[in-house]
Order: sequence, then C-alpha cells, then structure tokens
Amino acid sequence: MKVGELSSVWRESNHRYRLVAHKCGNCSTVYFPPRDICLKCHRESIGKMKEFELSGKGEIESFTVVHDVPPAFVRQRPYFLALIKLDEGPTVTAQIVDCEASELEIGKRVRAVFRRIREDGKSGVIEYGYKFVLQ
Ligand SMILES: [Zn+2]
Repeated sequence: MKVGELSSVWRESNHRYRLVAHKCGNCSTVYFPPRDICLKCHRESIGKMKEFELSGKGEIESFTVVHDVPPAFVRQRPYFLALIKLDEGPTVTAQIVDCEASELEIGKRVRAVFRRIREDGKSGVIEYGYKFVLQ
C-alpha cells in the first residue's frame, strides 16, 4: 500500500470517528454526512455551514437482519442493519452490534460506538467506523 492510500483511509476513519455533521447557519438543519450547501436554503447557506459534533445517540427507525453478506463480513453473519434517527435530526444507516435479533425493536434507544468495520486481508488495513449498540 502506498502512503497516499493509507492517509486517505486514516482521514476517512478519523472523520467518522468524531461523527461530525454540518449545521446550517441559516435554518439550523443538521446534515450527516456533512454537506457544504443546505438543501433548504441553497445559496443563503453558502459559507454558513458549520461543523457540528453529534452526540451519537438516537433511536431505531427500522432495521433488517442481513444473512446474505459480502465476503469481508462473513464472520459477522448475520448482522443487523438499521436506520437510526439521531437526536439532532439526521438519519443514518448503520450496523447494530452486541445484541440478539429478538432484542431489536423500532423506537429502541441506541448509541454510537467505534468498531472495526472491515479488514483487508491482503494489505492488512483495518478500517474503523461507527456502529451502534442498544442503550
Ligand atoms: Zn438551511
């Protein structure tokens, strides 16, 4: 692996590590992943989008149990993928870990944790990112 690739992996995971959103300085809408222009204010939001750190807390809006997983995720089969409505407004799609399917319910409170997302066997690169656990 080249140095340039390594730093891009690091940058990306560092970014996710902090759960940084953008908040519109005009209408206060929060965007995650961050956006440079507000979908509601358009031109008026240019230069007014501010970094905003999310609490990582929210609730399950919907979820699905995934049995058919890509090769990199075989060890995690089955896994739970959920739409999570964060307390600050944005909805994210993420994995829910450390629980049984029977514990998952729409409306249950969850919080973000940082975990290994995948490991590239060839390069040895391990990517970290956020997942959620029941609160
Ligand atoms: Zn706005």
